[in-house]
Amino acid sequence: MTKYVYSFLEGNRDMKDLLGGKGANLAEMVHLGLPVPPGFTITTEACRAYLEAGETPETLDVEVTAHLRKVEADMGKQLGDPTDPLLVSVRSGAKFSMPGMMETVLNIGLNDQSVEGLAQQSGNDRFAWDSYRRLIQMFGKTVLDIDGDLFADALHGLQQKNNYSGDLDMTTEDLKALVVEYKQIVKDATGEDFPQDPRKQMDLAVEAVFRSWNTDRARIYRRRERIPHDLGTAVNICTMVFGNMGDTSGTGVCFTRDPSTGHSGVYGDYLVNAQGEDVVAGIRNTLSLADLQRLDSTSYDELRAIMTKLETHYRDLCDIEFTIQQGKLWMLQTRVGKRTPAAAFRVAAQLVDERLITTDEAVTRVTGEQLTSLLFPQFDRDAHKTVLTRGMPASPGAAVGEIVLNNQQALERTQAGASVILVRRETNPDDLAGMVAAAGVLTARGGKTSHAAVVARGMGRCCVVGAEDLIVDEAAGTVHVKSINRTFTAGTVIAIDGTSGQVFEGDVPVVDSPVMTYISHGLEAGLAASIDEDTQELVKAVDRILTHADSKRRLDVRANADNPEDAERARDFGAQGIGLCRTEHMFLGDRRKLIEAVILADTDDERQEAFDALVPLQTSDFVGIFSAMDGLPVTVRLIDPPLHEFLPDLTELTAQLAVKEATGEEVTAHDRKILAAVRANHEQNPMLGLRGVRLGLKIPGLFQLQIRAIAEACLECKRQGLDPRPEIMVPLIGSVRELQIVRDEAEQIIAEVSQASGVELSLPIGNMIELPRAAMTAEDIAEESDFFSFGTNDLTQTTWGFSRDDVEASFFNEYFDNAIFGVSPFETIDMHGVGQLVELGVQKGRSTKPDLHCGVCGEHGGDPLSIHFFDSVGIDYVSCSPFRVPVARLEAGRAAISNDVTNA
Ligand code: ADP
Ligand code: MG
Ligand code: MG
Repeated sequence: MTKYVYSFLEGNRDMKDLLGGKGANLAEMVHLGLPVPPGFTITTEACRAYLEAGETPETLDVEVTAHLRKVEADMGKQLGDPTDPLLVSVRSGAKFSMPGMMETVLNIGLNDQSVEGLAQQSGNDRFAWDSYRRLIQMFGKTVLDIDGDLFADALHGLQQKNNYSGDLDMTTEDLKALVVEYKQIVKDATGEDFPQDPRKQMDLAVEAVFRSWNTDRARIYRRRERIPHDLGTAVNICTMVFGNMGDTSGTGVCFTRDPSTGHSGVYGDYLVNAQGEDVVAGIRNTLSLADLQRLDSTSYDELRAIMTKLETHYRDLCDIEFTIQQGKLWMLQTRVGKRTPAAAFRVAAQLVDERLITTDEAVTRVTGEQLTSLLFPQFDRDAHKTVLTRGMPASPGAAVGEIVLNNQQALERTQAGASVILVRRETNPDDLAGMVAAAGVLTARGGKTSHAAVVARGMGRCCVVGAEDLIVDEAAGTVHVKSINRTFTAGTVIAIDGTSGQVFEGDVPVVDSPVMTYISHGLEAGLAASIDEDTQELVKAVDRILTHADSKRRLDVRANADNPEDAERARDFGAQGIGLCRTEHMFLGDRRKLIEAVILADTDDERQEAFDALVPLQTSDFVGIFSAMDGLPVTVRLIDPPLHEFLPDLTELTAQLAVKEATGEEVTAHDRKILAAVRANHEQNPMLGLRGVRLGLKIPGLFQLQIRAIAEACLECKRQGLDPRPEIMVPLIGSVRELQIVRDEAEQIIAEVSQASGVELSLPIGNMIELPRAAMTAEDIAEESDFFSFGTNDLTQTTWGFSRDDVEASFFNEYFDNAIFGVSPFETIDMHGVGQLVELGVQKGRSTKPDLHCGVCGEHGGDPLSIHFFDSVGIDYVSCSPFRVPVARLEAGRAAISNDVTNA
C-alpha cells in the first residue's frame, strides 16, 4: 500500500520530490531540534492520485486520521473541540517554490462552538473571533471559490463606517458582526452554510490545495519557470500557533543575509499582533528585527541563534517564517532563499571566505542566466517610470529610444544620431538591419524562441516580445496600446526592459554594468568602473567564480562569428576560437551580381570568371577574421543556404515584370533569364533541398573558390608573421562519399597553393553532423573527416521533421499546453531524441578515430541545460554567439563540477 502521509519526524530535506520543499524543510528543522509546531505532510503522490481520479484515495483519509490523532495526543487537544480546540493550518508546498501561486488556509477547526472554547481557554475573546473571521475569509476564497473582494469589501466597509485606521481598531463586537456577515456571504454564494464539522473543513481544504496545482496562474508560472506540470503539490497540516494573541505576539519573515545585495546581517520584517500573510500583505507598516530586539529580546536572541544554525546547516542564505505566541518563538518555514543575481555571486564568494563551502560549490551556486543579467545595461532602479504595457522578456537589458517601425526608419534615425526601438508585429530575417541598428526590439507577437527573441539574444540586444496589448500599424506609422487606449506615433520615445518585459513611456535613465566592463576589459577595469564597494565586491566575486569555472571546465568555448569585429569581441569575452564562421555574407551585397552570374552562366568559362573575381574579395574577408583570431582555431563552414536566397523573390519578380509589361517598359533578355532561373531554383521545401554539400557538388567551382580563398588567406597571414588556424567544415553531409569528393578536391587545391608559394599549409577538413543519417553512419564519415561539429539546429529540425520558422508560431503553444514539450527543443536540446543522436555520433566517430575532435555549433551551445548535456556525452567544445561566451564558460565549469559529482 502506498504511504501517503509522513509525520514531520519521518521526513528530511532530501525528500522534496515527495514532501515538497516546505514539508521537507519543516522535517529538517524538527531534526535540528528547532521549535516547529507538530504536524504531518501529505505527499505529492497523493496529489497526483487525487488529480487523476478526481477524489482522494480512501487510504489517505485513514492515514490522515492516524496522524491527526498522534498530533492531538501530543498537544492534549482535539481538532475543533468545543471547549479547547486544536487548530491547524493546511498549507500547500510543491517541490519548487511557486510564490503566491497556491493556497494555504489557517485556523481550521474553528466553528460556532469552538470559537467560544478558544476564547475561554485563551482568555482573549478578540483573538478568538479574529481567528474565526480569518478562517471564513480564507476558506471562502480558497476552498469555496468565492470572490475574495466580497470579504475584503465587508472588512473595509466596517473599518470605514467606524472611522478606524486599521485592523487593530476592530473590537470583539466588530469581529463577531463580521463573522455573521462573512457567513452570510458564504451562504449567498454557495447556497450552503459555512461547514461546521472540523474534519470536513480539513478534508475540503486539502482537496482545494491539491486543485490549486492546476489553476491557470500556476500553470503559466510553471511554464515560465520550466517546472514540469506533473509533479503535484504536497500538503502540510501544521498545528496553529498564534501571532494574533495580543501585544506579546506577532509574526515575521527574515533572511540570514540580504537577498538583494548579499550583505550578511539581519534582514526581516515583523508585525505585532498579526497572523500569517499579514506581513507580506502590507496591511500595516512592518517593524524591523531591530524593533523586535527592543520589544522581546529573548525571542530575538533565540531567533538570531536559529538563523545562524540554519545558515550553517544549509550552508547558504536561508529565508525564514516565524511566529511569536505570547513570548514563545515558533518556526514555520525555512528554505534556501531566492536572491538577486548580484547577491547570488556575492553570497557564494562570502561563503567561500567563511569556509562554509568550497570554491567548486560556489561555482554551482550561480547560474549562467544570473551572469547574463549582470552583463546587460540596467535601468536606474530609483528613476521614476510610467508603465505602458508589458510583454515577455526575451533578451535582457535596458533600452531607450524613439519608436521606429521598419528598417528604413531605423537606419535613417540612427544615422541622424538617434537611439531607436524597433517595434514590429513580429520580425523576420528581413528586419535584421533594423534590429542591428536599434537599441532594442519590441514585438506584439511571438514567444521566447521567436525570430526576434533568438536573434536579439544572439546579438545581446534588449528585446521584449509578444506584447499582445499592442497594435502595430506600420502603414499608419502608429503603435496603439489597447488597454489604455492610447496611440503613439513613430518618433515617440519609449523604454523597454528585457529583464522584466515592461514597456515604459519616455526616457528612463540607463546605467552601465561594471560586470560587463570586467568581462571585456579585465578585473582592474571592472573595479575602476564600480561605483561603490558593494559593486566592487560583486565584480571580484564574479571574477573569482568565473576564473575557477574556467580552471575546472572540460569543454572549450568558441564563438559563432563571421566578421573581425565579432571575432574580437568574442575573444575579449574569452572565446577560444570560432566554432562556426558562416560564409554566406561573403556572397551578398555588391557581390550578389557575381553569384547571380554564376547561377545564370551558360558556359564553364563564364562561371569561372565570376569565381575568379570572388577569390580576392573573399581572401581579404578571411584575412580579417584569421587575424582577429590569431593563434586560435577558426572553423569555416562552406556555403550552406539554398541558391534561391541569392536570387530575387519569385512573387516579387513576377509582379515587377508584369508591371514592366503593362507600362510598356522593355523586359530584357536578362530579366527573362533571371525569372527562368528563379523558377528553376524554386523548391517546395528549401530546408530539405539543394543546399550545403549538395550545392557544392552541383555547382562545380563553388566550394573550390572558397577553399582557395581560405588557403590564400592562410598564406597571407603567415606572410604577416601571424599564426592562422583555419579548419574547413562541410555542411549537410549525409554520406561519407559526399565528404570524400569534397575532400579530394580540397586537398588538391591546398596542395596547389602550397606548392606555388613553397609554404606548408595544414588545413583540417571536417564536417557538420546535422542529419540523422550522418549520426547513424558517423563511423564511416569519420574515415574521411578530421573533426565533427554537431549542427544541433538542423539536427533538431531533421530529427523532428519540422522547420523552426514554420512551427514555432503555428503549433508550439499547443505542444506546451499538452506537455509534449516542457521547453522548446530549439532552446534546450531534446536530450532523449536529438541528444541521443549527438551521443551516438560522438561514439561512432571515435570508434574509428579515438581522438576525433567533436564540437557543437548553434544556439544550443549557449544554453545552460544543453551545455551540461554536451559535457556529459564527451563533446570537446561548444560554440555560441559572442555574447553568450561568458555564460557558456561558467556553465561549462558548473557542468564539469556537477557531472563529476553525479558520476562519483
Ligand atoms: P506560503 O507558501 O504562501 O508562504 P504558507 O503555507 O507558508 O504559505 O502559509 C501562509 C502564511 O501562514 C505564512 O505566513 C505562514 O507563516 C503562516 N502559517 C502557516 N501555518 C501556520 C501555523 N500553523 N501557525 C501560524 N501561522 C501559520
Ligand atoms: Mg510560507
Ligand atoms: Mg545547418
